[in-house]
Amino acid sequence: MKQIIIIGGGAAGFFCASNLDEKKYSITILEQNSDVLQKVKISGGGRCNVTHACFDPRELVQFYPRGNKELLSVFTKFQPGDTMDWFDQRSVPLKIENDNRVFPESNSSQTIINTFLTEIQNKKVEVKTKCSVKEIEKQGEKYLVKTSLGDFQADYVVYTTGSSPKSLKIIENLGHKIVDLVPSLFTFNIKDELLQDIPGTSFENAEISIPALKTEESGPLLITHWGLSGPAVLKISAWEAISLAKSKYHFEIEVNFISKSMDEAEESFLNFKQSNPKKTIGQAKIFEVTNRFWQKVLDVSKVDLNKQVSNISGKEMQQILENLCRKKLKVTGKSTFKDEFVTAGGVDLKEINFKNMTSKLLPNFHIAGEVLNIDAVTGGFNFQACWSEAWLISQHLNHLEI
Ligand SMILES: Cc1cc2nc3c(=O)[nH]c(=O)nc-3n(C[C@H](O)[C@H](O)[C@H](O)COP(=O)(O)OP(=O)(O)OC[C@H]3O[C@@H](n4cnc5c(N)ncnc54)[C@H](O)[C@@H]3O)c2cc1C
Repeated sequence: MKQIIIIGGGAAGFFCASNLDEKKYSITILEQNSDVLQKVKISGGGRCNVTHACFDPRELVQFYPRGNKELLSVFTKFQPGDTMDWFDQRSVPLKIENDNRVFPESNSSQTIINTFLTEIQNKKVEVKTKCSVKEIEKQGEKYLVKTSLGDFQADYVVYTTGSSPKSLKIIENLGHKIVDLVPSLFTFNIKDELLQDIPGTSFENAEISIPALKTEESGPLLITHWGLSGPAVLKISAWEAISLAKSKYHFEIEVNFISKSMDEAEESFLNFKQSNPKKTIGQAKIFEVTNRFWQKVLDVSKVDLNKQVSNISGKEMQQILENLCRKKLKVTGKSTFKDEFVTAGGVDLKEINFKNMTSKLLPNFHIAGEVLNIDAVTGGFNFQACWSEAWLISQHLNHLEI
């Protein structure tokens, strides 16, 4: 029987093994840690956000700052609907939450892990843990995989090691080009009196732009102890991961907390002033922001909370609107989002055949998962890329004439 060696016992490696034809191949997974699927275990805060309920490949690829072009054909063959069917066929109920993220109904990543473990047990896949791959030697069309537990002969290699620099070096030594690694999905560290002492304040839909990069994102926003977080920040951090790394995480952003233009906001303000002239500005409910934030805006704008709205001068109004609609803030660093870091960079996509995830440089060598220069925003997209790519590999190998 031909031997498939899967290097890396993570999401991509296990999904590939779970779909391979065990009657055709002898399959071994090599994992350096003592436990497999460790990232799946901690994913989604322990609940594992398996995928995202977005079933149109064209829409889906918009969530991938790197890999969007290449993944389109991959998702036409295996997309979130297929992932949900796959788990359904194995009696794992999944649920779609309000924001379209998909989780196991059990709310436990262990359900997903158990499913994979059962699959590979049924297929008699051998799993070698504490087995660190040190080097791979190409021997004609085959490979000698050198590990801490000795050498393994492979007719086919599936390389799914995630983004560790050590494992990227191994594949670089085989001739693949590696795009530099930079962190993606992070929150912004900002020290500014407008954000001070009000952590937990959230905005349903804010706009953030980075003027120097001419880029803008919108979505929910959250004030944290360190600065700003929330989907709007995470999205912009992912799309601009490379430029922001170059800036050493020192740059200026402009925030519109209420997603209204200055003119629209001014109109709302003046309408309110006309109909509620006697109200104190501190009590005025003009915009959809929390009382705490409103009072902070007034404080920073140096407007007396007890002043009647009718007595607010044009200059004071401008100051308030500037702080609400185009507040400039200096970012001076980044923090990790709930430990959910993702790495941009990895194996250059030009060297991969996306029909079947084979290397264009190495025969019988497949590559999938975070080791590639592909990453997505938060929401289940990173796993979906792993499932889809690993599915293509399994189908390619299952249909090979050997
Ligand atoms: C805290 C956290 C939460 C996350 N939550 C989510 C989520 O809910 N939804 C989502 O879509 N994405 C999530 N992600 C991202 C997601 O976990 C990754 O995109 C995904 O795990 C990548 O899968 P992979 O198989 O490519 O790599 P990994 O899961 O990292 O697996 C690679 C495996 O290869 C092993 N390995 C590496 N080098 C070697 C070697 N030389 N020899 C042997 N073995 C080796 C590693 O030990 C590892 O087990 C989260 C990430 C983090 C850090």
